[in-house]
Amino acid sequence: MSGESNQSLRIAVLGAGAMGSLFGGSLFEGGANVTLFDLDVAHVESIRKNGLNLKTDAGERRIHVPVLFPSEVNGVYDLVIVFTKAMHTRQALTAIRSAIGPNTALLSLQNGLDNKLVLTEFADPKNVLIGITTYPADLKGPGRVESHGRGVARLAAAGEPASPTLDLLPDLFARSGLDAVIDPHAEAAIWEKVAFNAALNGLCAITGSAVGQIGAHPETRALAFQIVSEVCTTAIACGFAVERQHVEEMLADALAHHIHHKPSMLQDVIAGRPTEIEAICGAVVRRADERGVAAPVTRTILALVRHIDWRAATARRSADQLRRDPTEV
Ligand code: NAD
Repeated sequence: MSGESNQSLRIAVLGAGAMGSLFGGSLFEGGANVTLFDLDVAHVESIRKNGLNLKTDAGERRIHVPVLFPSEVNGVYDLVIVFTKAMHTRQALTAIRSAIGPNTALLSLQNGLDNKLVLTEFADPKNVLIGITTYPADLKGPGRVESHGRGVARLAAAGEPASPTLDLLPDLFARSGLDAVIDPHAEAAIWEKVAFNAALNGLCAITGSAVGQIGAHPETRALAFQIVSEVCTTAIACGFAVERQHVEEMLADALAHHIHHKPSMLQDVIAGRPTEIEAICGAVVRRADERGVAAPVTRTILALVRHIDWRAATARRSADQLRRDPTEV
C-alpha cells in the first residue's frame, strides 16, 4: 500500500458513468486521491474541460477530478472501484491490468452475481471486495450525473484474511458523505438485490412499462413476486440466508412508490444498448439448474431479454456496416 492513511490511498474508479461518477466525484470532494477511468470519449472530454457536473441533494457543483482513458493508465493503484456494467468488467480490468499490483484491492458494488468470480481472475481473493449499494444515480449527458436520496454500501471481503483496505472504506466513504458498512452477510444482500432487479428490470425491459405499471396490472405484479420467490429459493439452495419477506417488502414498496421509475435495463433497451440480463437472470438460472431448482419465470424473462439484446446487437452491426460502406443498402 502506498501510504498509511486512507487519504494517501491511490484510488482508481473504473467505469465513470452514473455510479462511478457519483462515488468517484464524492470521494474526490472528500479529499481522496481519485482518478476516474472511462472510455466514453465525449464524457471524458467533458469532465476534462468543464469538470464533472454532479447534482445531488447537497446541490449542483463542478468537480475537477482527474479522468483518464484506460490506455493512459499510469502505475499501480491501491484500490480499484469497478463501476462498469457487469458485462464490461473483464474487458475493462484487462485494459488496466498494469494498475493492479499484488496488494491492490478490487471493489465491485455492481449489480449481478458473477462480479466476485470475475474480479478473482485479476486479484487474489483476499484482495477482492464485494458488496451492493442502494445509492441511485443517472447519467444525464456527457460529464453530467444526478443522484437523489439516501443510500448505503454494504461491503465484504471475498477471501480471508481480508485486504486491510476493507477496514479503511467506511471512514473513507463517510468523509465523502457516502454511507458504507462492513457486512459479513453482504453476499446474501447481493442475492436479495439480484432478486429485486430480476423481478423489476426484466419485466420493465420486456413490457416497456415503468415500475408503477407493472404493479398496477395483476398479472405482471404476480410475475414479479414469482421471480422474487424463484431467486430466493435458488439463493437458499446455494447456501445464502436471504430474507424473502424483506425482498417482497422492497418490491411492494417500489411498485407502490417508484411508479414513474424506468429501471436501467429498460433505459438500456430503449437506447439500443446491451443489458445486464446475463449478470442478473442468466446467473440465477445457471445456479438454479446446478441445484435442481425450478425457475420457469426467471428463465422466460432471460430468454425474452436475450432476444431483445440479440435484436439490438443485429441493428448495431447493420448500422456499423452502413457507416463503413454507405453504398450498401
Ligand atoms: P453506466 O452505464 O452509467 O456507467 C458505466 C460506465 O462504464 C460508462 O461510462 C462506460 O463508458 C464505462 N465503461 C464501459 N466499458 C468500459 C471499459 N472497458 N473501461 C472503462 N470504462 C468502461 O452504468 P451505471 O448505472 O453507473 O452502473 C454501473 C454498475 O452499478 C452496474 O452494474 C449497475 O447495475 C450498478 N448499479 C447502478 C445503479 C444506478 O442507479 N445507476 C445503482 C446500483 C448499482
